[in-house]
Amino acid sequence: MQAAPQTKDLPALTAALEQALAQDQLRLLYQPLVDLQSGAVVSLEALVRWQHPDQGLLAAHAFLPQADSAGMTAAIGLWVLRRACGDLQAWRRGGQIDLRVAINISPSQFRDPGFCAAVVAMLDECAVAPGALTLEITETALTEAGDGCDDVLAGFKARGLSLTLDDFGTGHGSLSSLKRYPFDAIKIDADYIRNVVHDSHDAAMAKSIIAMGHNLGMKVVAEGVETESQCDFLRRNMCDQIQGYFFAPPLDSAELHQLLASGRTLPAHLLRMHR
Ligand code: C2E
Ligand code: MG
Ligand code: MG
Ligand code: MG
Repeated sequence: MQAAPQTKDLPALTAALEQALAQDQLRLLYQPLVDLQSGAVVSLEALVRWQHPDQGLLAAHAFLPQADSAGMTAAIGLWVLRRACGDLQAWRRGGQIDLRVAINISPSQFRDPGFCAAVVAMLDECAVAPGALTLEITETALTEAGDGCDDVLAGFKARGLSLTLDDFGTGHGSLSSLKRYPFDAIKIDADYIRNVVHDSHDAAMAKSIIAMGHNLGMKVVAEGVETESQCDFLRRNMCDQIQGYFFAPPLDSAELHQLLASGRTLPAHLLRMHR
């Protein structure tokens, strides 16, 4: 993937992103979240890319921050929501009846007073049950969005959506976010997982986060799981789900179709029941 496009000229970037939306240049990849009890794919995280006409496939970090400065976050967020809900409906109709999808929410979406209504309207339009959609929110997004968050998050909960606190442990106010907002799950950031097998300090942190999440009645997901030994550590320590290159990278629709059709699961020795 390529580096960031020119960011200095915001009007030009706005125009380019408007064109990207009009000409269908955005892409969604989906990365599986795998359950450590059943070994099955239970959810997919939607991750946006920009198939730039000159610069190739751009990663999220290469254009989302600039898109925010260009005032394009809401439009991109809506595109992601529409595509993800449409895809989810198609997979569910195709037989993946329990599959869920997770989308990432940026701070400025929270500041938009019409955001909650837009999400609910989209679920309705795509005939997707609210319980099938998870919103992933980082601590940083909550901090940046400020006080309006309580009502917005309570509104989503009341409508039956799931909320995950993303990149747990990397922002300011992880614990106060957990105390204040009604999350269903936390995602341990890849930073804590990278050295979890060899670094006793990281191992202690990961175990403590898992225990804390469970004590609060939440599911715990680990992201950035790249190796079998990391997966083994997480299943032994009762983590609920894993996501990372070890099981699968973010996939395009053909790759995803193949994976879902194959019914691939984690091997039995990597499940929580295994002794
Ligand atoms: P995130 O929500 O924490 O997503 C996980 C990131 O980790 C993804 O990067 C994914 O490709 C990467 N990843 C997955 N497995 C592994 C692994 O085993 N090892 C390593 N090193 N990395 C792994 P990506 O797709 O580049 O996205 C980066 C961030 O951009 C996301 O972090 C999320 O905060 C944001 N983002 C992506 N798509 C969207 C979107 O549609 N809307 C918004 N608002 N933000 C998005
Ligand atoms: Mg995420
Ligand atoms: Mg994350
Ligand atoms: Mg992350």
